[in-house]
Amino acid sequence: MRPLQVALAGLMLGVLSVPAQAEARDIGRDTLPANDGWAAYGSGTTGGAAADADHVFTVTDRAGLVRALDGGSDTPKIIRIAGTIDANTDDDGDPLDCADYATGGYALKKYLAAYDPRTWGSAKPGGPQEEARQASAARQAERVVLPVGSNTTLVGLGDSAVLKGASLQIKDADNVIVRNLDLRDAYDCFPVWQPNTGGLGDWKTAYDNIWLTGATHVWVDHVTLSDKGHPDAKEPTHFARTYLRHDGLLDITNGSDLVTVSWSRFAGHDKAMLIGNGDTATSDRGRLRVTLHHNAFESVVQRAPRVRFGQVHVYNNRYDITGDDHRYSLGVSTESRIYAENNAFHAPGHVEVADLVKSWNGSALHQSGTVFNGFPVDLLSIHNAYNSGSERDLTADVGWTPALHGPVDSARAADRAVARGAGAGRIP
Ligand code: CA
Repeated sequence: MRPLQVALAGLMLGVLSVPAQAEARDIGRDTLPANDGWAAYGSGTTGGAAADADHVFTVTDRAGLVRALDGGSDTPKIIRIAGTIDANTDDDGDPLDCADYATGGYALKKYLAAYDPRTWGSAKPGGPQEEARQASAARQAERVVLPVGSNTTLVGLGDSAVLKGASLQIKDADNVIVRNLDLRDAYDCFPVWQPNTGGLGDWKTAYDNIWLTGATHVWVDHVTLSDKGHPDAKEPTHFARTYLRHDGLLDITNGSDLVTVSWSRFAGHDKAMLIGNGDTATSDRGRLRVTLHHNAFESVVQRAPRVRFGQVHVYNNRYDITGDDHRYSLGVSTESRIYAENNAFHAPGHVEVADLVKSWNGSALHQSGTVFNGFPVDLLSIHNAYNSGSERDLTADVGWTPALHGPVDSARAADRAVARGAGAGRIP
């Protein structure tokens, strides 16, 4: 019988037969394949593969996860997340909301009244409401910031593992793997008003779903990163700026190096991925080497990625641009050397090829094999033809050619493969 007939027969018998499935393969001891991007450089990336039996954990709640992470220790360990873990919970597993964290008399209404630019001006917020905000934010950070140490593998078990509300922070650590996890809604209860950001002031939020700072040899694979649960598009405007609740989905900063991000989904978010967070951070020179391949960037407004300093190989990614708020996809900033090849872009009519690249103080971009709405395009010549004159033209010579990578597919083949295979729950 054909599968449909089998299912119908099962229904008629009152028992829906489920096809026998092979027991899910244990991915906990997988290591990054040889040559698979910058994280394969030198000693490669093995995460917690060397863990002994006492350091293989299956966790189902925040308390168990925190115990297994062991304060970011470098003991080889494999941590498997089963089901959904909410970082905004107390030690008994009971949910905590923003009101539970608020302390010292903090209230958004009072905060807005205190620092209204019309009365407060453009000085940095200070005084009782800002102090109360900081104290409240510290209480949330204590729950949601989860440090991941060296020699750690963190994986989802099965195809529906979720970690919500958390900010995984890989800080000054080496050799870390994060795979097969849906990481969502790193929601900041207490954004800070920064009157001097971008001329008009802006709200600054604290948490990235994953933040690499001083981290080396990191492989992020088959991860889904989003704001699911609290889309920023539904947030109100305060002081004429959107009251954003989320920072980056995956930010790579402060001398981080040798990172591969593969087969992951970045979805429904403003600032997806920042590689290098300051034009004056010259210690990032020669570092921030990152490979991005077979990732899906869906409904992302900007930073897919934005790069300073790094040699970043961006190949075989799929971009699905939706909505009215897209600003750019590839951000070319100070001393960045992006090597982009065989990427596929899908965009609605009001988005033009010239909107895909933005340069701030950048000088070079390699691009080849780009496909836009099914047609081959040259991002570089179009960027240079349309740039406003306030930017320098970008040259094609980025001074390096990627050597560490798997097979590079055509943009069209990668487009289909990524649509089918990127994200958590999709490891073949
Ligand atoms: Ca960030």
